[in-house]
Amino acid sequence: MTVTYVAHSGFLVEWDGFYSLFDWWKGELPPLDPDKPLLVFASHSHEDHFDPKIFTLSARYPKTRFILSHDIRLATRRWEKLGMNAELFRRVTSIRVDSVLAAEAGGTPLTIRTIQSTDAGVAFLLSAEGKLVYHAGDLNWWHWEEEGSLYCANMEMNYRRAIDKLAAAVRDEAADAGCEPVIDAAMAPMDPRLEDAFDLGVAHLLRRVGVKRLFPMHMWEKYDWIDRYCAAHPADAERIVRIRRDGERFEI
Ligand SMILES: [Zn+2]
Repeated sequence: MTVTYVAHSGFLVEWDGFYSLFDWWKGELPPLDPDKPLLVFASHSHEDHFDPKIFTLSARYPKTRFILSHDIRLATRRWEKLGMNAELFRRVTSIRVDSVLAAEAGGTPLTIRTIQSTDAGVAFLLSAEGKLVYHAGDLNWWHWEEEGSLYCANMEMNYRRAIDKLAAAVRDEAADAGCEPVIDAAMAPMDPRLEDAFDLGVAHLLRRVGVKRLFPMHMWEKYDWIDRYCAAHPADAERIVRIRRDGERFEI
């Protein structure tokens, strides 16, 4: 499996039988094999996660389909603005929070689970080819001190609950697929704007859920904060991928 960090929270994951592209709005995509199915995911409607330019991919890659969080509105009155048309619309699956979707990509069976984000939209857990891949979207422990103690207490509760749901989804999926209950590649926010709380989300995720490789994201290009995380959490360091630049590829 190859994971390409595109930019910000955008990742391309190449499986044996298909590609999955998450939250692409910025950065260059590597050239793709047009014969391989491409599943394009968008976790929520915010502009640093969803850009209607994703719909242009199907012209270059005829086997493209879109799995979009339900908060991304595709009403016909918006079609012109989005570059949408009836043919493209048939390629879209709109998915709600806390759902399970049994799909397939070029004959490869695939399960897509969503977990409600603490921000907007969903996080995705994909299961295929005996592997599990997680993309958090903006599901994170957003400890914004300035929002006050009630906000922060609610945030903590909601984040812990979401990660408990993820842990249960990983166990269920692994039991169904007959694989280890461990996420092979997890992509999760490590946002420097949270200052001293930048590590809460990833640290809690790694304590609660088995993860082989953790790709930090939503970093606003401040990749040195990955080193800061590893210094503060040496037990996690081996599993944290040291991203340094847009377009970097990792074989896992
Ligand atoms: Zn965001």
